[in-house]
Amino acid sequence: MPFLTRKTVSFESDTLASNGLHAGYGAAWQDDAFRPSKPLAELDGTGMPASLRQPQTKRICGHEECANGWVMPWRNRRRPIFEGQWGCSGRCVLAMVQAAVRRELGDRDRAIAAPHRHRVPLGLVMLAQGWITHPQLRRALEAQRESGTGRIGDWLIRESGVEPEKVTRGLSMQWGCPVLTTEGFSPEAMALVMPKIFVETFGLLPLRVAGSRILYLGSMDRLDASVAFAMEQMTELKVESGVVEGEQFEAARRRLLACDGVEMRLESLEDKDSMSARITALLEQRQPLAARLVRVHQYYWLRMWLESGALGRVGSLPGAAGEDVMDYGFTIGDQR
Ligand SMILES: [Zn+2]
Repeated sequence: MPFLTRKTVSFESDTLASNGLHAGYGAAWQDDAFRPSKPLAELDGTGMPASLRQPQTKRICGHEECANGWVMPWRNRRRPIFEGQWGCSGRCVLAMVQAAVRRELGDRDRAIAAPHRHRVPLGLVMLAQGWITHPQLRRALEAQRESGTGRIGDWLIRESGVEPEKVTRGLSMQWGCPVLTTEGFSPEAMALVMPKIFVETFGLLPLRVAGSRILYLGSMDRLDASVAFAMEQMTELKVESGVVEGEQFEAARRRLLACDGVEMRLESLEDKDSMSARITALLEQRQPLAARLVRVHQYYWLRMWLESGALGRVGSLPGAAGEDVMDYGFTIGDQR
C-alpha cells in the first residue's frame, strides 16, 4: 500500500514532529481514522504491514538531535508516543523525557503565584462590602485564634452567624474568580479527570466540562494556579477556576471519591535522572499511544493512554476507567 506508507510518513514527519503534543494526539487518532478497516492491533508489533517496517528515508524520530540514520527493523513505528513524539530508540525516548523533566522542573509555581501574593484578607474584603460588621469579624478572629485552627470563613459562619453564600462571594472577590456551583456535576466522568490523590491533597474538584472546551475546577477557599496550569497541559482544555460553597463542595467531593477513577501508582525516586530513566522504561514497556508528563506541585504526573479507545471525546480526558489509562506519580527524594 504505497499510498498509506507515504501518507503516514509525511504526516508524522511534518506535522507530528513540529507541532508537539496537540498535533501528536490528533495525529495518533486521526491516523487510526484513516484506516477504519484496519483494527489497531493489526498495525502493532508483528502485525504491522510490511510496508511500514521497511527502512524509510525520512527521519521521524521526535528527539531533536537524533543521530540514527536508520531504525531497528523490529521497532514499532507507531509507539511509544510521548507528548506527540515518537522515539526511534530507547536513547531517543530518554532524551525526550529528560527535556520534559527539565521543562517541568522550572520554577513555574513562583512565576504563576506571584500576582496573588498581596491578597486582601477575606475579613477585610467582606467588611468593605458591608457583608459583615466589625464585631462579627472580631468574634470570628478571636475564635480562630483560641482554637488555633480553621479558616476565617468557617469561623464567620459558625461564630458570627454569617451566611455561607456571603463567605463564598467574599472568597470570589478576594481571589478575583467566579463563584461556581456543582450543578451538572457528574462524579463518574469527573473522577477520570485527575488522580484522586490530587483531589484529596490540593482541595480541588473538577466540576464539569463545558462545550468540550472548558474544564471548571472548583475549590472551597482558594485558587491554585499551578494545578490549573498543569491540568490545562494534561487535558488540552482551558481551565476556569472558581470557589464553590463549602457544603456543596464537600458533598460533590464525597461522590467523586466514591467513583472509579484512574488509580495513581506512586513512586519515590532519588533524583531527576533516575526519574527520567524510570519514565523511559515505562514508555518502552507499556508502549502507549499517547503520554504526557506534568508537574503538580511535588508530584510529577505521567499519564499514559495505552489504546486509542482510552481517549474520550473531550480534550484528552480518558473515556472510561479501566486498564487502558495509567497514571504514575513520581516524587523526588522524600517530598511526598
Ligand atoms: Zn531517534
